[in-house]
Amino acid sequence: MSEYRGLLEMAGKFHGDICGGIVMGTKLAIHGMEKMQMKPGEKDKRLIVYTEIDRCISDAIMSVTQTSLGKKSLKPMGYGKFAATFVNIETGEALRLVDREANNKDERADDETIEELIERIDGTPGEELFDVQRVSVKIDKNDLPGKPLEIMKCKECGETVMDGKHHIKGGYAYCTSCYTGSYYTLL
Ligand SMILES: [Zn+2]
Ligand SMILES: [Zn+2]
Repeated sequence: MSEYRGLLEMAGKFHGDICGGIVMGTKLAIHGMEKMQMKPGEKDKRLIVYTEIDRCISDAIMSVTQTSLGKKSLKPMGYGKFAATFVNIETGEALRLVDREANNKDERADDETIEELIERIDGTPGEELFDVQRVSVKIDKNDLPGKPLEIMKCKECGETVMDGKHHIKGGYAYCTSCYTGSYYTLL
């Protein structure tokens, strides 16, 4: 079995099934890690990954890169785009990979089955599938893995706010919900 097929199976287990997004995401993550001189499928403490979409492709990226929200090594950006950026926090090197086919739908035949897609992606070099951009990513020290640096209490609701995510007004700290409004409404 190719390295790709092995990692694809792993990502499929994590996601629940092997769909088109898992097929592409696995390849994207392998290509990204190889470009960063890291080993796909293995956790690397130097790696932080920004994914730009909360769809299938990001589950494959999580699985192959072994990054996680809880370890602060995965940053979901929610841009709705088929792209991810790989950052080496030791060297600052950062590469943004874009799924070329997701942006040019006519490159993929409509009647391609998932097995045909896997076969084709397995046999196609990453260079032909993904655009790679050299980028610079500024990471706030609070967003790096490791011990929490700033812990505050919101003056309004009294809840704890970690990792410098508070806002200062009139010398007091506030959480985002109290400061700018929230995604939820209290009933
Ligand atoms: Zn899926
Ligand atoms: Zn609050």
